[in-house]
Amino acid sequence: MSETSLRAITDLNVESELKGKRVLLRCDLNVPIKDGVIRDDGRIRASLPTIKYLLEAGAAVVIMAHLGRPKNGAAPEFSLAPVAHRLGDLLGSPVLFSTDVVGADSLAKRAALKGGEVLLLENIRFESAETSKDDAQRVELAKKLTADMDLYVSDGFGAVHRKHASVYDVATILPHAAGFLVAAEINVLKKLTVEPERPYGVVLGGSKVSDKIGVIKNLLEKVDVMAIGGGMLFTFLAAQGHEIGKSLVEVDLIPEVKKLMSDAQRLGVKLLLPTDIVVAPTFAADAIPTLVKADAIPADQMGLDIGPQSAAVFASAIEGCKTVFWNGPMGVFEFPNFANGTKVVAEALTKVSGISVVGGGDSAAAVRALGFADEQFGYISTGGGASLEYLEGKSLPGIEVLHNA
Ligand code: ADP
Ligand code: MG
Repeated sequence: MSETSLRAITDLNVESELKGKRVLLRCDLNVPIKDGVIRDDGRIRASLPTIKYLLEAGAAVVIMAHLGRPKNGAAPEFSLAPVAHRLGDLLGSPVLFSTDVVGADSLAKRAALKGGEVLLLENIRFESAETSKDDAQRVELAKKLTADMDLYVSDGFGAVHRKHASVYDVATILPHAAGFLVAAEINVLKKLTVEPERPYGVVLGGSKVSDKIGVIKNLLEKVDVMAIGGGMLFTFLAAQGHEIGKSLVEVDLIPEVKKLMSDAQRLGVKLLLPTDIVVAPTFAADAIPTLVKADAIPADQMGLDIGPQSAAVFASAIEGCKTVFWNGPMGVFEFPNFANGTKVVAEALTKVSGISVVGGGDSAAAVRALGFADEQFGYISTGGGASLEYLEGKSLPGIEVLHNA
């Protein structure tokens, strides 16, 4: 990909291209909300620089964003209304909100919007055309979204791997530029893929091997060290022929994992697998934890975290690297008894002298929940799937489209 040719918003002429212009902006405001309360507003904060820049330049800004995966049109639990409030608080100025995407309320509020004002549209996925596989349906929605707009700014990094109307099709209709967040994310991902500073270490965890297998494959070719934790480590242990008890496993992936292990050997990549595991009889916060050897997991127990010895080995490998990418918690960090591995790895990342990158929605939430500050890391990526697809070597439709005039 030739990211260098992306047009940045700072390349736009403020007087002629922004002041008094109508800017359609895609943001990623997909934050975790429970009982109407925002649990982590990291993605809203990450969107502020671009929004502020556009408003200060005098543009009238219409924001498109999604929340969750509503299946059947509008549903109150997927409303962006709480996000509009938080965004207003963070900006320190009012944010208008339309209760529909391209309906009467949105049309009226867009028509009245002036330079320096911002309007957030209700969850874009309330329109089924947004995610449609049918190009014509998406284009029809994109036409409505762009009808009264002058410019499209792409800043919803977490969605750029999706060929959706608000991510892809609108950019085929309007002149476009990349916002600060998209530019920053691509810049960091390039550092992880193009001539990374060595030694280069990657730590992968999380729940499923199937989510991460493409990344493991592609990064094996580039890294010096790869450490595996989280739920997916048990598929590796199973591939080595070990008893894994009731731990998470993807049996159908065992052959592929075996191949990855032999590839690592062939490529001279140091593949670190845990040697001790924290197990429990059930998947519960109050389940009694026991420490066992990785090759001796009792049949009636499940692995819920990496053990302290493994965490220490991972930590020292990480601290010795100049480039580190971490995706996926080492254990079920949501339960304090099983959060230690994730905490130790996070701590190690904060000590890296080169670049340390945390990717993945749950991983970012984990470091914040465990009390770390964003500034302790080189970069916390906002886009889980998007970063992973980039690191798999796939092309991202929402970025590719920005290269076309
Ligand atoms: P990310 O969003 O950072 O990419 P994932 O979505 O892949 O991460 O995985 C996060 C989830 O993995 C967490 O909710 C965590 O509880 C779970 N997890 C980690 N280790 C285990 C384990 N040993 N067994 C079951 N689930 C696990
Ligand atoms: Mg996740």
